[in-house]
Amino acid sequence: MKAARLFSYDKPLKVVDVEAPRIKNPSEVLVRVTGAGVCHTDLHIEEGVWREKVQVTLPYTLGHENAGVVQEVGDAVASFKKGEKVIVHPVITDGTCRPCRIGEDMHCENLVFPGITADGGFAEVLRTSERSLVRIHDLAPDDVAPLADAGLTAIRAVKKAASRTTSGSHIVVMGVGGLGHIALQLLRCMTNAVIIAADVAESKLRLAEKMGAHRVVDARRDPVKQVMDITANRGADVVIDLVGNDLTLANGMKMLHKGGTLIIVGYGGTLSVKAIDVIFSEFSVLGSLVGNWDELRELMELTRQGKVRVITQKGKLDEVNDILEQLKKGTLEGRGVVIP
Ligand SMILES: [Zn+2]
Repeated sequence: MKAARLFSYDKPLKVVDVEAPRIKNPSEVLVRVTGAGVCHTDLHIEEGVWREKVQVTLPYTLGHENAGVVQEVGDAVASFKKGEKVIVHPVITDGTCRPCRIGEDMHCENLVFPGITADGGFAEVLRTSERSLVRIHDLAPDDVAPLADAGLTAIRAVKKAASRTTSGSHIVVMGVGGLGHIALQLLRCMTNAVIIAADVAESKLRLAEKMGAHRVVDARRDPVKQVMDITANRGADVVIDLVGNDLTLANGMKMLHKGGTLIIVGYGGTLSVKAIDVIFSEFSVLGSLVGNWDELRELMELTRQGKVRVITQKGKLDEVNDILEQLKKGTLEGRGVVIP
């Protein structure tokens, strides 16, 4: 089968012929991938940012936002059968450790992350497990694939924001890219907050308005002052930072109201803050890592109800490097999806 693989860091992926995966243990499932989202994390992997975080031998196949059709199931798989359309939760979990038993899939003590620590979905066939699958029924795999990670990460952060706000609270979303445009739609259906979107590109601000932002802030022009103006100098109750560079993290802290929460989702930068400021204003800083299986199930339900849609730019597997390049330049609107 064809797969887009990373052979060395700082080089584009190569589309090559590899042996298709086979079922090795009875709880595994093979999914014929018909939609694989392209993520900023794929760029970070290429750049070697994750080199020390994960142990992986090159070459391997990237792609961790996958959807498709069940092609084959292991002998112990009872809840899915061949031909069903599914979205794939991005990690394979053991189901027996404590984090798994309380539903926190991302904290599994024996986690495998296809596309990051094992072969992923930029390929015709992906090996995963029964526990990772969520049915998508009448939805199209290539339309929903980015929800497996971009959407799932957005819903978890939005649920954290929703639990810390009330009607009329102010929530700022920094970055209106693949995650941001989904987060805005989710904030509209899960909160009654005033939603403020910030980005550095005019086209992204127009997108934010279409996706549900009540107010937009051009982040090139003193975004802290603009948020203060919108909130009558109170500041925001929650800032969701989907960018996570030094500047957005620093600005995020500065635009918080007392008792406010900074939720960090994007990464690459370092948050630097004085302890005294955190104490005096009782700020909270939360990390938010992808999402659990039930959050993916909930997201699929909202998608089927028509409350969430992903804007996608679709291409063939061979076009994966072009899509990554556009993502790097910031010219991609919504999310890139390859159809292997
Ligand atoms: Zn586990």
